[in-house]
Amino acid sequence: MRGVVWIRRDLRLQDQPALTAACAECDEVIPLFVFDDPLLRARQFGAPCVTFMVSCLDELAAALADQGLALQWRRGDQIEEVLRFVVDVKADVVYWNRDYEPASIHRDWKVQQALMAQGVVVRTFKDHVVFEAEEIRGSTGDPLQRYSAYRARWWTKWHAATPPLLPSPVRQRNQRAGGSSPKIALPTAEDLGYQTVPLSIAAGEKEAQRRLRWFLDGPVHRYVEGRNIPAIDGTSKLSPHFRFGTLSARTAVHAALGTLATGGSVSRRDLLTWIDELIWREFFLQILSAFPQVASGPFRSKDGLPRPRPAGAEWTRLYAAWCNGRTGYPLVDAGMKQLNQTGWMHNRVRMVAASFLIKDLRIDWQSGERYFMQQLIDADLAANNGNWQWASATGTDSMPGYRIFNPLLQSRKFDPEGAYIRQYVPELAAVPPDKIHAPHLMTQKEQNLAGCRIGRDYPSPIVDHRQAREEYLALGKQLVMR
Ligand SMILES: Cc1cc2nc3c(=O)[nH]c(=O)nc-3n(C[C@H](O)[C@H](O)[C@H](O)COP(=O)(O)OP(=O)(O)OC[C@H]3O[C@@H](n4cnc5c(N)ncnc54)[C@H](O)[C@@H]3O)c2cc1C
Repeated sequence: MRGVVWIRRDLRLQDQPALTAACAECDEVIPLFVFDDPLLRARQFGAPCVTFMVSCLDELAAALADQGLALQWRRGDQIEEVLRFVVDVKADVVYWNRDYEPASIHRDWKVQQALMAQGVVVRTFKDHVVFEAEEIRGSTGDPLQRYSAYRARWWTKWHAATPPLLPSPVRQRNQRAGGSSPKIALPTAEDLGYQTVPLSIAAGEKEAQRRLRWFLDGPVHRYVEGRNIPAIDGTSKLSPHFRFGTLSARTAVHAALGTLATGGSVSRRDLLTWIDELIWREFFLQILSAFPQVASGPFRSKDGLPRPRPAGAEWTRLYAAWCNGRTGYPLVDAGMKQLNQTGWMHNRVRMVAASFLIKDLRIDWQSGERYFMQQLIDADLAANNGNWQWASATGTDSMPGYRIFNPLLQSRKFDPEGAYIRQYVPELAAVPPDKIHAPHLMTQKEQNLAGCRIGRDYPSPIVDHRQAREEYLALGKQLVMR
């Protein structure tokens, strides 16, 4: 039997359900990746994300070749290319791991219908999450909209039916088939119309495994505090790996719980807080799959929320300042510069920057969502949309609309010495710690000493936070009264 494994966001060999099944069931296995031209042309993602994907694919192709499997690739419309390929190679079965984005669900349904009409068997698998939306429901069978309830069910399910890790499928196949395949040349980011950029987080399955071990041996030991400090490596930076499936969420949870079971020194609190984040990831994925409308609009009606600022010159000026990290609020600016320079931004700063755009600048959250998608190395529709909706109070389980992050207090609390700010806003490098969070309050003499003239080297605040906060709350009066 000849099987095609349609590889998508599962760029690994370990614990890879579709590949494992194909290798167990077929005499001949052909892995296929299709570069989606319409999606690439739409520019929803940026160079860091595309460079990361291409780099992961290079490593995957080499790893598959070592095991006797030659990755094939096509470029064009995904549906047409997959269907054409299956006919060309005369496959009997097509395997893939399920995706939960609305457009992907629609695409997969179309491919499945067309293949079945041709008599080709289709086998699909859960992979991207530990539990799919249908597996975790409320007592009425509806999707859960509160994270706390979802989390409780998630753990109940984990204890009742812990998903096992799969053995490496290719080794099994290699034992039968023997030999290795010639390595193939894949397109570069340039070939796909993007720039190849230096990666701030190294790509590939081996690196994902290494990073997971590094994190569980070190930073997780003080995750509860460390995860909020943007100046240190306090989090795993595994997000692009989960995004492209170079690491499975199952592997991460098993490995994390394994460190507890082996009686190491890691605290339960730190470890479970980290797993909570993986559960947030699944929570947002199940929201997206159960309520696909969130991809294009708010989950909740916007009643009571202040109207965003209308388009115009002021909108353009404020939005450009936010995108370029020129707001005059050093923590926000450091975050935006980290994003623009590295394709990644610390979670705490993502929350502050999002709140600032929506509530201080009163710019619609979807403009921020779009910008993040275009810049992030871990750009992921479910996580990005879920978090932007959380920040804008339009989501399922959101931050209250009246809660507004104070960028100054956040800065003082989480970057007290300004180490993070200094790294990404070098014009503030010599500003003393007591002024780094509000450099516009420096006297002329202090500005001269720090080599930073406000208004010339670094901007004055583009809005006054206290005033912007009051305006926002006044405009959304019903919100506060609720
Ligand atoms: C406005 C905004 C936009 C965001 N956009 C994205 C995005 O496009 N892609 C993305 O992967 N994450 C996004 N996040 C969530 C979060 O910021 C990143 O997942 C996290 O910073 C990645 O760093 P890490 O891998 O070191 O996380 P860790 O702290 O090590 O967490 C482990 C994993 O849990 C998941 N996770 C952590 N926090 C969250 C969260 N709040 N929501 C969902 N999953 C989470 C990630 O997969 C992460 O890799 C966004 C957050 C905000 C506030």
